[in-house]
Amino acid sequence: MLTRENIIEESRRLGFGDVGFTSAEPFTSHLDYLRNHQDEYGWVERVGLALVDGTNPKTALPAAKSIIVLLEVYFREAFPVSLESHFGRCYLDDDRMTRDGLTSRIKVFRDFLRRGGIDSKVPFNLPHRVAAARAGTGTFGKNCLFYAGRTARMSSWVLPITIVVDQEFAPDEPTLTMGCPEWCRNACIAACPTRALKGNGTIDPRKCISYLTYFGRKITPRELREPMGLYVYGCDRCQNVCPRNLPWLSQELSMNPRVEAKAKDFEMSTLLHMDRLFFESRIWPHMFYMSPDDLWKWKMNVARVMGNSRDVGYVSDLVRAYRENGDVRVQGMIAWALGRIGGRTAKTALESFLGASEVTVREEIEAAREAC
Ligand code: SF4
Ligand code: SF4
Repeated sequence: MLTRENIIEESRRLGFGDVGFTSAEPFTSHLDYLRNHQDEYGWVERVGLALVDGTNPKTALPAAKSIIVLLEVYFREAFPVSLESHFGRCYLDDDRMTRDGLTSRIKVFRDFLRRGGIDSKVPFNLPHRVAAARAGTGTFGKNCLFYAGRTARMSSWVLPITIVVDQEFAPDEPTLTMGCPEWCRNACIAACPTRALKGNGTIDPRKCISYLTYFGRKITPRELREPMGLYVYGCDRCQNVCPRNLPWLSQELSMNPRVEAKAKDFEMSTLLHMDRLFFESRIWPHMFYMSPDDLWKWKMNVARVMGNSRDVGYVSDLVRAYRENGDVRVQGMIAWALGRIGGRTAKTALESFLGASEVTVREEIEAAREAC
């Protein structure tokens, strides 16, 4: 029979930052929270993420007795600035589709459990951060993120991996508390550009840039385009401003070679002009929350970023992309981006688009001309 010590030793051998244990009791207070905030979280159920089911570990493994929580430090190596500026760091080395990094280490860990006679499941919908705190591995921040208690210089650059097992282990002392210092004065809440953070340690996920970049069928509302800034997919702003993360951010880290190797594919111009084949083979395996049918959304987000960059070098890309794209949401955002960059070339291009057949696009063009 495997002991806690055997498991801790194996997790270290596989390079995980920390490990903790908790019972397989249901997460009842989290369930209550979800039920009382259906207006904010109902959409998550509708897209099939089954958060309510995830609050009971026995849904994933009926014989569940304990949960082992592994903490993965996903920011051990540096990422190219060109990527960090536009994508959430936790997605930059995401191997859930390619299955050649973290996923394979989790598999080795579960094989080790299996050889020790332990059955396990890794449910995607368990409340990972709450489980990690219940297993004593860290505390919460007012930005709703989880902060490590013993690894990664106690920063939030960790992913809790929750493994439900059918063997009972003595649980660790829970650390279900807010770990923010009084003196911080809520830097994350002030810095959140879309006011998603409510100030009491909770969030309206529908207002978070992460949600806004992946979900929704309409063109991004005008009042959000500037606050969403340079993010194409995800957002790290409330983590970048957090003093609890400064000790980690102050280090010189060596470059992550896997991420560096794909940086060229993620250049803004490449993304704006990519076709379905390129998307499916080069982008989707790494960032898969938007399907190939949502290519318009990638392009709309990139056009917004180009506008917010105020870089006149993007004007010719935007003009070309306007003619390449029939989607009115992309065309509308391109018009907005040209208006935001401004200048004579952008204005001339907008005038040449005035014959657009769609009313919504014409309105965007008119507004952009005025902005110029
Ligand atoms: S990730 Fe960005 S948008 Fe979401 S809460 Fe943090 S700062 Fe706000
Ligand atoms: S910025 Fe301040 S309030 Fe927000 S999570 Fe960090 S320490 Fe807490």
